[in-house]
Amino acid sequence: MSAEDPLIADLFEVDKRLTLKPVVDFNSYLRTAFADGPCRCHRCVEGNGEESSYSHQHSFEFDGRQAHRRFANTAGSDVLQVLKKAWLSYTKTDMKLTGELDLNCVKGFTDAALHPRLVVLLAASGLAREVDGIWQLQAQAD
Ligand SMILES: [Zn+2]
Repeated sequence: MSAEDPLIADLFEVDKRLTLKPVVDFNSYLRTAFADGPCRCHRCVEGNGEESSYSHQHSFEFDGRQAHRRFANTAGSDVLQVLKKAWLSYTKTDMKLTGELDLNCVKGFTDAALHPRLVVLLAASGLAREVDGIWQLQAQAD
């Protein structure tokens, strides 16, 4: 046993938590929450992609490529379902459903490459809103 062993054990512990199914599911959910190209919904097509009147953005850019949110499975309540399951399995505690969302904790179990999608989806789905650098959870209708 060397003095470094506990640290190595810690690292393995973190890796193991990232392989928990709800955490893996959450990451794949983020990956599939957006589709390639600009939004083609009726409103965007009619308005020629002009989104200034929208309360939530439809089209985004990730890594220099346009993407749009898939509405069918990305309502705030959908995001919340997968997020709170991942949160529970990763932290072993229930996620608070009101007040501040600890984004750093969420990022801890989100693939770094998916962080831009995570932040965008939290806001676009209406699940949370950033106020002065703090993410506040919004009440969900269902
Ligand atoms: Zn649209």
